Amino acid sequence: MNKEPAAEGPNVASLRFVLHEHFAKHHHFDFRLEKDNVLKSWAVPKGLPEIPKDRRLAIETEDHQLSFIRFTGTIPEGEYGAGEVKIADAGTYRQVVWSREKIEVVLSGQRFSGTYVFVPFKRAGRGQWLLMKKG
Ligand code: MN
Repeated sequence: MNKEPAAEGPNVASLRFVLHEHFAKHHHFDFRLEKDNVLKSWAVPKGLPEIPKDRRLAIETEDHQLSFIRFTGTIPEGEYGAGEVKIADAGTYRQVVWSREKIEVVLSGQRFSGTYVFVPFKRAGRGQWLLMKKG
């Protein structure tokens, strides 16, 4: 009988991410990482950084249901976030660090891959982070 290789713990699990492009009143991107059975979410006005020197503001928003990971379509006028939502990228990620002082993940997407780091942007206030690409 073959034995499955032992899992090395939650840090090596491959989880999903999505980058939604949201044509709301103010165009922005929503970066969502599957974690603890919800989508942890940030509004990222300028999208994900492509090179290490870019620092992008990422504003924590409410958790979304996991099923929203596949959402595309139009949120009707009058509802929160009214406007079209497209998937700008999707794939999997691996968690390296997840704390209040730092979140580090390795993305494997179609368009974005590599190590991305969030650090609190304390000067800007609670729930505000800076998102950078590492290396
Ligand atoms: Mn949005």
